[in-house]
Amino acid sequence: MWRRISIVIGSLIISFLHLGRLQDSGYLFFLIPFIFLLLFYFLVIEDRFSTAALAVISLFLIASSAYQAPSLLYLCLLLILAATVLCTFLYQKSWAYKIAEAEMRRRETEKEMNMLEERHRIRLDSLEHLEQRVNGLVHLFEVARDLNECLNFSEILSVLNEKIVPVISFTYGTIILLDTEGSGKKMVRNYYMVGAKKRDEKEMRGFMGACLEAVGDNLQPVKFEKNDISEKTDFRAYQAKFPVWLFPLAVEQRLIAIFAVEGGEANDFQKFEVFASQLALQTKKVGLYETVRELSIVDGLTQVFVRRHFLERFQEELKRAVRYQFPLSVLMVDVDYFKSYNDKFGHLVGDKTLYEVAQVIRENVRRVDVIGRYGGEEFAIVAPEIEKTKALELAERIRSAVARKHFLLYDEETQVTVSIGLSTFPADLGIKEAKEPVEPYIPDLIEKADEALYRAKEDGRNRAVAFS
Ligand code: GH3
Ligand code: MG
Ligand code: MG
Repeated sequence: MWRRISIVIGSLIISFLHLGRLQDSGYLFFLIPFIFLLLFYFLVIEDRFSTAALAVISLFLIASSAYQAPSLLYLCLLLILAATVLCTFLYQKSWAYKIAEAEMRRRETEKEMNMLEERHRIRLDSLEHLEQRVNGLVHLFEVARDLNECLNFSEILSVLNEKIVPVISFTYGTIILLDTEGSGKKMVRNYYMVGAKKRDEKEMRGFMGACLEAVGDNLQPVKFEKNDISEKTDFRAYQAKFPVWLFPLAVEQRLIAIFAVEGGEANDFQKFEVFASQLALQTKKVGLYETVRELSIVDGLTQVFVRRHFLERFQEELKRAVRYQFPLSVLMVDVDYFKSYNDKFGHLVGDKTLYEVAQVIRENVRRVDVIGRYGGEEFAIVAPEIEKTKALELAERIRSAVARKHFLLYDEETQVTVSIGLSTFPADLGIKEAKEPVEPYIPDLIEKADEALYRAKEDGRNRAVAFS
C-alpha cells in the first residue's frame, strides 16, 4: 500500500514539475508515456519489475531536468526518489520474510492437521473395533441367556441353530454326549448335529471315536489341522473339514460331552470356546432336568410309567382315537397269588419279579403301546388301533410269555402267572358316537377291563378275558 502511494506521489510531483516546463515540448515526449505507464501500473500491475521501471523512468526524467537546469530542488527530488526505492526494496524484503514465515507456519499447521486427521482415523478405527467387540459380547450374552432357558436338548439345538449358525461360519458342529462306564471308560451316549450340514451316518461313529481318542483325559480345547495325523485321530478318514476343534465340555472336572467344530474361521475360535463353556453347564442342567423328569414319570421299580403319567398318555391316545376314528384297547394285567409269592420268597424277590414281569410285557407289546404300573402288582396297557380280537391275541401273548418265563432271582428259580382283563373303545362303551372331551371314557374303560380281570380271576387265573 505505502509503496504504491509513495510511487504515485513521487510521480505526480515529477509530472507537476514537467508540466511547468511544457513550453519545452521535448519533455512531453517522455511525460505522456510515463503517465500511461503510471496509470497502467496503478490499475493493473503490481510487481517488482514495474516498480523498477517506474523508478528508472522517474530517475531519467529528474536527471535530465537536473542536467538542463541544475538546482537544489532536483537534488532533493533525486534523494527522495532514491530513498523511496530503497524503502520499497527494504519493505519488500520484510514482506518476503513475513511470507516465508507464514508459509512455514502454514506447512506446520498442515502437518499438525495431517497428524490430527491420522489420530482421528485411528480413533475411528478403534471405535469401530470396539463396536464390533461390544456387538460380539452382546451376541455371546444373548446366546448364553437363551441357552440358560433351555430345558431339553432340542431347545439347545434350536438356540444354536438360530443364534450361532447365521452369524458364525463353520461346516459341521457336533455335540457328543458321553457316559462313563463302570470301569471309568468314556462311551458315546448320544450325539446332536448343529447347523445346516449333517455328516453322513456311516462316518459319524468313526468320527466320534476319533474325537474321544483325541480328547482323552484332557479338559483343554484341542485343534487339528490337516497335517496333525496319528493313526487313531486321522480325521481325514471321516471326511472331516479342517481345522477340527474339539472343546471338552466338563463340569467339576468331569468330562460329560465334546463339542466338535469343523471348518471354522481362526478368529472365531475364542467365541466357540465361550459357547462351549456355556454348553457344558447347559448340558449338565438339561441332563439333570431330564433325569428328574424321568424319575417323575417312570416307576423306579419296574421302569414303566407311573400311574399319573400313564393316565395322561391314555388320554392323549384316546383323543387321537376319537379324532381319527380308530379303536383302542385297554389291558389290565394282575400277577396271580402274589401275596403268597411274597410270603414264600420274600419281598426282595417279589420286587425283582415285578421288574421282570414288566420286561416281559414290554417285550411283547409294540413300541406305540403305553405301559403303566397301575397298582402294586397290577399293570395297565393302552394299545391304540387294536380292536377286541387283536387285543385278546396280544393279551394271550403276554400271558403265555409270563407263564413260560423262569426267573432266577437271588439263587431262587421262580415262576408266576398273570390274569388279564381287557376292554375296547368304542365297542364296550355302548355309545353311538364317541366325541371329545374324552376324559369320562377313561374310568369307564378301566372299570370294564377290571370287570373282565375279575372274571379271569374267577375262572381260575392265568388267563385273558375280554369284557362282554
Ligand atoms: P390275586 O391272584 O387275587 O391277584 O392274588 P394276590 O395275592 O396277587 O392279590 P392281593 O391284591 O391280595 O395281593 C397283592 C399283593 O401284592 C400284596 C402285596 O404284598 C403285593 N405287592 C404289592 N406291591 C408290591 C411291591 O411293590 N413289591 C412286592 N414285593 N410286593 C408287592
Ligand atoms: Mg392286585
Ligand atoms: Mg394279584
